[in-house]
Amino acid sequence: MLNLIIFGPPGAGKGTQSEKLLSKYQLQHISTGDLLRAERNAGSELGNQANEYIAKGELVPDAVVIGMVKNFMLSHPEANGFIFDGFPRTTPQADALDVMLADFNTGISIVLGLEVNEDELVKRLLLRGQNSGRADDQDESTIRNRFQEYQNKTLPLQGHYQGQGKYHGVMGIGEVEAIFESLCAHIDAL
Ligand code: ADP
Repeated sequence: MLNLIIFGPPGAGKGTQSEKLLSKYQLQHISTGDLLRAERNAGSELGNQANEYIAKGELVPDAVVIGMVKNFMLSHPEANGFIFDGFPRTTPQADALDVMLADFNTGISIVLGLEVNEDELVKRLLLRGQNSGRADDQDESTIRNRFQEYQNKTLPLQGHYQGQGKYHGVMGIGEVEAIFESLCAHIDAL
């Protein structure tokens, strides 16, 4: 199995690159942000609870997202591999992912980080807010809070995966296609 984590701050382009990667490598896409928004749109209890965190730019509790990822994986036993997009975002999530993959007799193959500076990210997110209507992309203080959460809770995972020799950073600014090719080069070198 090819299991990859697409890593990086909000607005780095994880969703865009995931779409291209999953079609090239025939993988299942797990975006915890998309799963949470689907729950909210369905009006489920979980979705309503999660939305209170999302609206403030805070991370949703680990148990909630871990449970969602587990359900998704169990419902795709035929998968060739998974792209984890927006997950893991905390150390407990990373530990839980290792356990879930071990249950599939597999593990993380590679972690690809999209590296983009904060000014560019804010510009992208505000633009996305205008186009997509996502409320958490329309308010600069919510966006800044998401960066704070990223710095405090998610960025430490970069060092965690570097220590395992799995992290590869790619400059996330430029043509979508050129960034995609850099990502593929790292995968193809495995
Ligand atoms: P972005 O990467 O632009 O922040 P996402 O769609 O990945 O967008 O996430 C939107 C929001 O959903 C996050 O700000 C957070 O509140 C919540 N969320 C998504 N994934 C996770 C996760 N793995 N752990 C906790 N909260 C999450």
